Amino acid sequence: MGATLLIDYPTRGAAVPGTVYLVGAGPGDPELLTLRALRLISEADVLVFDHLVSEPILSLVKPDAERIYAGKERGNHSVPQDDLNLLLVKLARKNQRVVRLKGGDPYTFGRGGEEVETLKEHGIPFEVVPGITAAAGVAAFAGIPLTHRSYAQACVFVTGHLKDGSMNLDWPGLARCHQTVIIYMGLHGLAHLCEQLIAHGLPADWPAAIVQQGTTPNQRTVTGTLATLPALAQAAQLKAPTLIIVGEVVRLKEKLSWFE
Ligand code: SAH
Repeated sequence: MGATLLIDYPTRGAAVPGTVYLVGAGPGDPELLTLRALRLISEADVLVFDHLVSEPILSLVKPDAERIYAGKERGNHSVPQDDLNLLLVKLARKNQRVVRLKGGDPYTFGRGGEEVETLKEHGIPFEVVPGITAAAGVAAFAGIPLTHRSYAQACVFVTGHLKDGSMNLDWPGLARCHQTVIIYMGLHGLAHLCEQLIAHGLPADWPAAIVQQGTTPNQRTVTGTLATLPALAQAAQLKAPTLIIVGEVVRLKEKLSWFE
């Protein structure tokens, strides 16, 4: 690796054997890793990673480090969550430096809390390293600020994961003006989402966008309205992961877009 970064700050230092590091890998672009993440990944003996972690980031591990794929694509949870939690315990007990690498931020729709609970119960030392969550990465790279003094004074992150074919969300709370709604895991429920937001009072021509693989060379943004976005997204044949943004801030994209 190129640059050596010398920072005069009391950080926690080198990775310690027997510890689990729950690390956010950011939204895709490897340069969006934190310095702490970069250091811990390059010192890891074993890396347990999700499908959202990009290949350039995986290639930062030591050549002899073990890599364990933990899955979690839609409908393909290669390792069930309970087994995964215990796997981290087992690896730490072998006195390894364990990096549990997750897309985005580990505590934003990442089940990081569940993994740390298990570590705590088993007395395994751990550290949590935040990452740039998809919403922040996509906002910057798509030119859609999450808040803006003229358009949105609040921003809500929700999961659009379908349960029994519908979404169990607080629709009256989401269908509000002066607010941006960010939907993770929402592609399959996009039509239902737009329908419900209109049914609960947002205008049919309310701006909405969906961004595919934000911050990567495959980033694509489709913009429309609550009425038009589902058909536009389908026609565009977007590939996961995608993030949905609903709110007037979407209008700013025209002016602020720089990456695509
Ligand atoms: N912990 C992650 C989120 C995991 S849930 C984070 O903080 O970002 C997985 C969902 O995140 C995906 O379904 C998608 O909605 C979103 N996502 C993750 N990376 C993304 C990216 N590069 N572009 C668009 N959406 C992304």
